[in-house]
Amino acid sequence: MAHQLHLEKEKYRQWAKAGLGLGYSKEGLAPFCDDVAKQQHKDILDNIKQTKNISTVTCGQCALKTLKPDHLKIGKNQCPLGQVNCNCCYTSGKIACPNNACGAIYDDIITNHASSPPAPYWKNTQTQQWTGDPWSIAKCFINAPGYDQKTSSADIDCSGLLHVIINNKYFHNHIQCNLAGANVFSKVRQYRNEIFHSGTMELEKAVANNYIDDMIAVLKDGKELINRKDAQDAVTKLEELKNKDFVVTTENMEKVLGDVREETGNLRKLTGLATKDDRVNLKRKLSAVESLMSELKEVVKRLKIDDSALKNNRSTKSQN
Ligand SMILES: [Zn+2]
Ligand SMILES: [Zn+2]
Repeated sequence: MAHQLHLEKEKYRQWAKAGLGLGYSKEGLAPFCDDVAKQQHKDILDNIKQTKNISTVTCGQCALKTLKPDHLKIGKNQCPLGQVNCNCCYTSGKIACPNNACGAIYDDIITNHASSPPAPYWKNTQTQQWTGDPWSIAKCFINAPGYDQKTSSADIDCSGLLHVIINNKYFHNHIQCNLAGANVFSKVRQYRNEIFHSGTMELEKAVANNYIDDMIAVLKDGKELINRKDAQDAVTKLEELKNKDFVVTTENMEKVLGDVREETGNLRKLTGLATKDDRVNLKRKLSAVESLMSELKEVVKRLKIDDSALKNNRSTKSQN
């Protein structure tokens, strides 16, 4: 059978390993990110309660565009926190939060942002959710579009979760690795693009194993991840991928297809929203990921045919 040949092709198997590895890494990171995001949210609200002497912090009325920050500009038009185009510099039409909360949260997000100058990604967030939903705050640290509709860590892919860890200083206290400069977290963050935007389901074995080793290194970070069950389970799965006898199954290819499908959807949305300059680049990525998706769909279809042939074969045999 022609597709058998395709499935046995070593480079294809290696690509499948890397694609699955991304999914396992995400599963290993998501509960950790969720816990830390919730802690950060609680700390921000507790801090507001204390400094403003209020017993509950709730809002839902402020919009980012009109929100007046707690901090004030310095000089003529300079943000003391260093944010470019900060709301503090445009005072006309800005409204202070009626509940005394959102201006402080806005400030906290900026001061926790790790890049310089700080650059929270406001398009991913809805200010109306800030006091009630930890992920509405965490998503400001994902420096890439496409996460505005996501509401929990389970909805966010490996690369999005790594953005939150890398760009959020609060998370740095929970990570041993030095996240400034070149580091393994930043390397793994790039792998989704390298695996899904390549346009082909092929990868050299050394490259695939290197990706997986880096994913394992992230999940074994010495501060907290190393002691977490979900991270340990993910490491076990990643190590199994490196075994010689790893086989491509319908189930695991469907899993990768789900991730590729989601990435395709994101890119489609982005391409629609993009400016002229970005569009060329995005269209190239989109066509690569689309051809990948159709190839992968075909593979899954054939695997399913194979599975049912195998089943029929078995039942015929057992009848005899
Ligand atoms: Zn400012
Ligand atoms: Zn408010």
